[in-house]
Amino acid sequence: AKDAGRNNFAFFTEDLGERVMGALRLENDLRKALARKDFVLHYQPRVDMLTGQITGMEALVRWSQPDGGLVSPADFIPLAEETGLILSLGEWVLEEACRQTALWSAEGLGALKVSVNLSPRQLEQPGLTGRTLALLERTGLPPEQLEVEVTESVFLKDFGMVSQALSALAEAGVGVALDDFGTGYSSLAYLKKLPIKTLKIDKSFVDGLPLDRDDAAIVTSIVSIAANLNMDVVAEGVESSAQLEFLRRLNCCSSFQGYLFARPLAASEFALLMARGGYY
Ligand code: C2E
Ligand code: CA
Ligand code: CA
Ligand code: CA
Repeated sequence: AKDAGRNNFAFFTEDLGERVMGALRLENDLRKALARKDFVLHYQPRVDMLTGQITGMEALVRWSQPDGGLVSPADFIPLAEETGLILSLGEWVLEEACRQTALWSAEGLGALKVSVNLSPRQLEQPGLTGRTLALLERTGLPPEQLEVEVTESVFLKDFGMVSQALSALAEAGVGVALDDFGTGYSSLAYLKKLPIKTLKIDKSFVDGLPLDRDDAAIVTSIVSIAANLNMDVVAEGVESSAQLEFLRRLNCCSSFQGYLFARPLAASEFALLMARGGYY
C-alpha cells in the first residue's frame, strides 16, 4: 500500500509537471505568435430577420500554424486572458476587424457592421476608448459600423471602469452587445445601467428549439425583456430551419447567426458570399 501511494504521488507530480510545462510552452508560443502576428480573423455573417440580407458579421480570431492549420480560440483565449496577452491580441483583433470592414465598404460591399469580442481585461484597461476611437479615425471606419460584444462576466469587474468605457464608446456611436446572454451573472439591474443596445441569445438556448419547452420559454422571455428595454436581439447558433421558423414566428430578432447560414469564413470567402446576395 505504501509503494502504491508513493507511485501515485510520483505519477501525480509528473502529470502536474507536464501540465505546467505544457502551459508554459503554450504561453511562450503565443508570445512569439503575437510578435509575428500569426493570427487571422474569420467572419460569421449576421442575417437580417426581415430581409434575409447579410448586414454584418462577427469577427472571430484563429491562430495560424506553420503547417497551415488553424487553432480554435477556445484553445488559447483562456490562457491569453490569464497571462494578460489578450490585451495585445485584442488590440490586433480590433485593428484588423476595422481595417477589413472599412476596406469592404470601399470595395462596395455596403456599410457592414462588424462585431468584435472584448475580453473583460480589455475593458478594465485604461485608455481603451481613446485607442479605439483613434483606430476608427485611422482606418476610416464610421463608429456606427463597429459593435463590441461583452459577456456578463464584465459585471464582476470594476463596474465604474467598465461602465465608463462602454458609455464613452456608445456615445461615440459604437454599438454594445451583451454576448451569451442568460448563461452568466446577469442581473437585470445591470442591463439598464450599461448602454447595451443588443442582447445575444446564447446558442445553448437556441439548441433545444422548437420542441424543448424550457428553451422555448427562456427564449420567449429574453425577447420580451429586450422589447421592453428597447434592445435588439440576435439569436446565435441557429443550425436548423425548424429553429429558424420558431424564431421568425416569435418575430423576435433583429438578426440571426449560425451554421444554417454560414460558418465563420475567411475574409475572401466572406466577400464571395456577399456577392451571392441575400438568403431569402
Ligand atoms: P462566441 O463569442 O460565443 O462566438 C460564437 C462561437 O459559436 C464561435 O466559435 C462560432 O463559430 C460558434 N458558432 C456560431 N454559430 C454556430 C452554430 O450554428 N453551431 C455551432 N455549433 N457553433 C456556432 P469560435 O469561433 O470557436 O469562438 C469561440 C469563442 O472564442 C467565442 O465565443 C469567443 O468567446 C472567443 N473568441 C473568439 N474570437 C475572440 C476574440 O477576438 N477576442 C476574444 N476576447 N474572444 C474571442
Ligand atoms: Ca461573441
Ligand atoms: Ca456568443
Ligand atoms: Ca457562446
